[in-house]
Amino acid sequence: MAKLNQALLQILACPCEHHASLNYQPDQNELVCQRCATVFEVRDGIPIMLLSEAKPGPNGIGKTSD
Ligand SMILES: [Zn+2]
Repeated sequence: MAKLNQALLQILACPCEHHASLNYQPDQNELVCQRCATVFEVRDGIPIMLLSEAKPGPNGIGKTSD
């Protein structure tokens, strides 16, 4: 399973309205938004930065509790 390029991680942002930074979870090979907790899969080293492909956080895709 290809891991995510760390330089790429620096320039990525969540497509949610906050455009927040992402945390990489190497065990799951997923990116998690720091604001909305939406989860983006990394496939073959390519992060799938689409809300339509993402897994929802606790408040739903692209949504925060505030
Ligand atoms: Zn987000």
